[in-house]
Formats: sequence, structure tokens, C-alpha cells
Amino acid sequence: MIAPTLQPVIVGAGPAGIRAAQTLVAHGVRPVVMDESARGGGQIYRRPPAHFARSAQTLYGTEAHRATALHSTLDGLYAHIDYQPNSLVWNAQGGQLDVLHGPTQTTRTVPYGQLIVASGATDRVLPVPGWTLPGVYTLGGAQVALKFQGCTIGRNVVLMGTGPLLYLVAYQYAKAGAQAGVKVAAVLDTARFADQLAALPGMLTQPSVLAKGLYYVGWLRAHGVAVHTGVRPVRVEGETRVNAVVWSDGRSEHSVPCDAVGFGYALRSETQLADLLGCRFAWAPMHRAQLPERDSAGRTSVPGVYLAGDGAGIMGADAAEWAGERAALALLADHGVKVDAARAAELESKLTKLMPFRQGLERAFPFPTDWAVNAPDALVVCRCENITAGELRACARDAGADEMNRLKALTRVGMGRCQGRMCGVAAAEILAQATGKPVELVGRLRGQAPIKPIPIHLQAQAAGAASATAEHTA
Ligand SMILES: Cc1cc2nc3c(=O)[nH]c(=O)nc-3n(C[C@H](O)[C@H](O)[C@H](O)COP(=O)(O)OP(=O)(O)OC[C@H]3O[C@@H](n4cnc5c(N)ncnc54)[C@H](O)[C@@H]3O)c2cc1C
Repeated sequence: MIAPTLQPVIVGAGPAGIRAAQTLVAHGVRPVVMDESARGGGQIYRRPPAHFARSAQTLYGTEAHRATALHSTLDGLYAHIDYQPNSLVWNAQGGQLDVLHGPTQTTRTVPYGQLIVASGATDRVLPVPGWTLPGVYTLGGAQVALKFQGCTIGRNVVLMGTGPLLYLVAYQYAKAGAQAGVKVAAVLDTARFADQLAALPGMLTQPSVLAKGLYYVGWLRAHGVAVHTGVRPVRVEGETRVNAVVWSDGRSEHSVPCDAVGFGYALRSETQLADLLGCRFAWAPMHRAQLPERDSAGRTSVPGVYLAGDGAGIMGADAAEWAGERAALALLADHGVKVDAARAAELESKLTKLMPFRQGLERAFPFPTDWAVNAPDALVVCRCENITAGELRACARDAGADEMNRLKALTRVGMGRCQGRMCGVAAAEILAQATGKPVELVGRLRGQAPIKPIPIHLQAQAAGAASATAEHTA
């Protein structure tokens, strides 16, 4: 049975969004699918420009068959969905989305009846002195350069931080470098070897994924890449561009010469759209983040709004596919369409079974909770507005700011182009340290439109159109 009132829009054509679209189509519904990228696939299965001729095996390694399966699912859906690539959703409220079409730099408004937000994640950034020097990238950025354009960020690269992406990117760089003369100068992991050992029981619940991780580390060591665990990044050095990284092993400092750095501490969910839509948020201890609440099927506190994939909590690509399908089934069921209840239950069970592994990952690559204590006052935390850790601490101390939006109002932290997407995590850690509060009690930066930078004249146009509509209907 097809519900005639369904008018679903999916934001994001990664694993979650594509499986959601496939499920809606299988039930006779034609969704709009919007994605900021030119080609669907999301982060893990990012597709290079059409004329690039690298094989799936070269691009995605052990994930090649999954990438190919997801890409061909999307390709097979084109006739049944309204696919809108190059389309950044920069605002969402009142049943409509404001969308920037990248190539033409034009904005338009798209109505929705139901919305599945599958907007994925970005790197979780904890700055280190010198991180604003040219040549310093996030791990994800370093990987995008390689996957999308076949470029590396430098010829002698340090990869630093923690999380599974650290070793994956190191492996990909070292492997690509064997042909291109690019070297991984060092892998610097803030997690200790003991953390990884302690995580083994949880990790063993997904033995094939664990095996891949161990393979990357083993391969790196076997190919002479220096891998150091339990490190504390001290600073990135350079005049006009990075030329070394200094790190500490707790006893002494070490310097590694390099011409580029990729760094990151796992991922953070892209939650701004859920925020603009009015979804209720709660502290999620495993993710160390304030996340939009959802039930096991992906329903949020706002009727008609569903979440799936990393945008609702970092769970990885397989989970994103299952969650996308599950959210679409929930949307359909909520609007009177008969769905396969057994499949819905199976998807929920698969997602639940992934939890011990996910917890294992947190144990293997723990968030460096001492980062804020070690961050010097001169460290730039918000680079859009050039706000230092010292200024944030002074605001907490002298103006009594003990909540993130108060801190933003008084210092402008998170008020620039990134809207807190890059600096928000670090600013919250500094505020928690300065006030002596647990980080879950300092709140979160509220989302503001535009959630990503758009040309200012387009925003003015959109605001003009909105006020004209309001006058017309008054
Ligand atoms: C940079 C990066 C690299 C990664 N690399 C790997 C890897 O190599 N291996 C691995 O196992 N995991 C990797 N991950 C994690 C993995 O990508 C995710 O677990 C998985 O892709 C989640 O799928 P998803 O559909 O939830 O989100 P994603 O795959 O992130 O897809 C989200 C999609 O939404 C689109 N989008 C976001 N916001 C908007 C908006 N406002 N308007 C329009 N479109 C929007 C994005 O363009 C993207 O295509 C990576 C994550 C990141 C951030």
C-alpha cells in the first residue's frame, strides 16, 4: 500500500541515506535525496570525479565490494528518486529546507513532509600549538585528498591523534607512498598499548574488523613505519609551513621532521540540522557528546524527523546502512504503509549487537581526557575567530561563564565560518576544565543557520523571500 501523503526528503547520500532511499523506493515511495557532494557514496565510499580511472580495489581496499554494492544501489535508484547532488542543506525549519546548489551558487527552498537526516560525521579536533600552520590537516581531510583526488598532503607525513582512522590513513598513505615516493614519518597515538589490550574482549565480538585493524598496525611496523603509542602531542613546528612535530612520551620530548601532519581524535556527529529542527538532545557518554535523542528505529522527538547513521552517533558504515533502512521502515510504518516487522526487528538486533564492539573501540582509543589540562593559554582553539584557550579560561573565571552559549556570546568562540563544528569539542573541554564541571554539564553550542558557509548575498536573498512570504500570508 502506498501512502499518498508521503513527501520524504533524505539529507545525505552515504551508506545510511542510500539504504533509506532504497527502502522507500521498494515500498513505492519516491524520495528526494540531497547530498552536498557531487557523487553519492558518503565518506567511507567517497567516489572520485567521474573521469578518474582508479579501480575500486585501489580506492577502497578490503571494502571494495561493499563500496561497489552501495554505488550500484544508488545508480540503480536514479530513475526512482529525485536525486539532487551538489546540494548543501544549510537551514531546516517549518517543513522546508534551504538548499545551496554548489556549481551554480544558487539557493532554493525545498518542502518536506518527512525528513531522514543522514548527514554523517567529521573529524573530532583537539588542537595542538601550531595546528594552524599550512600543511596541517585533519585525518579525514588527509584521506579525502588521497581518495578523491589521488593527492597526498605532503611527502613526509606525520599522522597523529587516536582512533581507527589513524591507522587506516597511515596504512593508506604508506601504501600509496610506495609508488609515489611519499613517506609516513611517524604514527603518534595518544592511546596506550595497554588500552588496546584491555579493549580486546569487546573488539573480539567483530573478529573480522579487529583482524583488519591488527593487519594495518602489523603492516606499518613490518614496513618500517615508526608507531608510537601513549604519546602526548606537544606542538607542531614551522615558520611558514610545518617542518616538525614535537611529542612527549611522559619522560622526554621527541621531534619528528615532516612537511605535513594529519591529526584527529575519532569522529563527531554532524548534528546541526537536528538542532535547527528542534530535536531534543541528551548527553551520550560513549560518544562523549550531546546527541539528538532517537528511539531504536531512528525516530526523534520531532514527529516526521528521523535520524540514521553517524549523524546520530558514530557507529560505522555497516551500522549506517542498517540504521538507514530501519529509519525508512519507521517512516513508512508511521504513515500507514505495511512493512516487514521481522526485518525491522532484525535490523535493530544487528545494531544492538554492534554495541560491545563500539564500546571496545572507545576503550582501545580513549578520548584524551587530560587534553584540556595540558592545553597552554596561548593555544588557538577557535581559528575562525582567533580565540585562545586562555581567553576562554579568563571568560569562565572573570565573567562566570559556565555554559557553552554564554561562552560563545562573550568570546565569539564558534561564531565564525565553522559555526563550532571544528572548535566546539575543544571549547567544551576547556570550559569544563576551567569551571571544574564535568563536560556533560557545560552544554552544547546551539546550531545556527547557515550550518556551513554560504555566500552572504544568498542568505540575504533567502531572508528577503521569507519575509515577503510572511507579509503575503499575514
Ligand atoms: C572524513 C571521513 C573519512 C572516513 N573514512 C572512513 C574509512 O576510510 N573507513 C571507515 O570504515 N570509515 C570511515 N569513516 C567513517 C564512515 O565514513 C562512516 O562510519 C560512514 O560513512 C557513515 O555513513 P553515513 O551515511 O552515516 O554518513 P556519511 O558516509 O558521512 O555520509 C553523509 C553524507 O551526507 C552529506 N551531507 C552532510 N551534511 C549535509 C548537508 N547539510 N546537506 C547535504 N548533504 C550533507 C555528505 O556529503 C555525505 O555524503 C570516515 C569518516 C569521515 C568523516
